[in-house]
Amino acid sequence: MKNDINYDVNSIKRRKKQKRIIKKIKIVTFLVVILLIGAFAGIKYFNKEKEVAKEKNQVSNTFTTNNSTTSKENEQASKNGTDSKDDKKENNKDEKIVMTVDDIWNKKDGEKIAFLTFDDGPSPHTPKILDILEQYKIKATFFVLGTSAKNFPEYLKKEVELGHSIGNHTYNHKIRYSGAYTPDEFVKDVRRCDNAIKEVLGQDFKTNLVRFPGGSFNHKSYERNLLASGFKHIDWNVENGDARRLNVPKDELVKNVKDEIGNHKHVVILMHDSSTKSTTVEALPEIIEFLKSQGFKFGVVSQEN
Ligand SMILES: [Zn+2]
Repeated sequence: MKNDINYDVNSIKRRKKQKRIIKKIKIVTFLVVILLIGAFAGIKYFNKEKEVAKEKNQVSNTFTTNNSTTSKENEQASKNGTDSKDDKKENNKDEKIVMTVDDIWNKKDGEKIAFLTFDDGPSPHTPKILDILEQYKIKATFFVLGTSAKNFPEYLKKEVELGHSIGNHTYNHKIRYSGAYTPDEFVKDVRRCDNAIKEVLGQDFKTNLVRFPGGSFNHKSYERNLLASGFKHIDWNVENGDARRLNVPKDELVKNVKDEIGNHKHVVILMHDSSTKSTTVEALPEIIEFLKSQGFKFGVVSQEN
């Protein structure tokens, strides 16, 4: 009888001990899992930060290199006083062509000028686009979205620093011109974008150039309101077709431009600077090469119209 009781007490003690051990194991396992999740999330965050920093570095490197080349060239030019005439000629050759919207469409000067335009940016692709344009010493026109300007202010600043032209592509990019989105609301959205641009580039920055999301076609009352508010808009006569669907192959984009140029002397080419349009970046050098081979110069759309 006594033995039985002893046995029971011992077995209860043993079971209690076992329970305590199991509880401890559970707690330790729980802590280990939490630690692992924390470490994993930390590594992911760190990698992302690194990527962003890398991207930023790439942009600033590109621009520092270019700036230093320019200042070296200038230094050289000022040293060789005798060559100043030739330098002037050289400079004239690279002179920026700036044309107002009216001149682009109406001036019949017989000159072949291509206006590369990029809508929807800035985006993660902006540095690559700027890099390509720098390689070819070409200036382009960027129609920026208010939302994108807020997301990538540094890229917008770079576009201006490098001498590209800036246009307004509205703040919210609504493309249904009807219902609650009245002509007044449209102009409000354009002004909101203008403010977003000024927040990045300073209150003195001015551009009255606009591109309608989706183009101005058949939106007459919206157009009238916009013009009455002091803005001027421009559509396009050639497109690379990168908005027709996602990931249009590079060769197709190049072909679209070749097919649509026809006999146009002044070509305004619609392309997109957007995170989903990587083939646009891939196709850009070939499009530029083609335009050059056809005798086109490159110009920008004026910010003052
Ligand atoms: Zn757009």
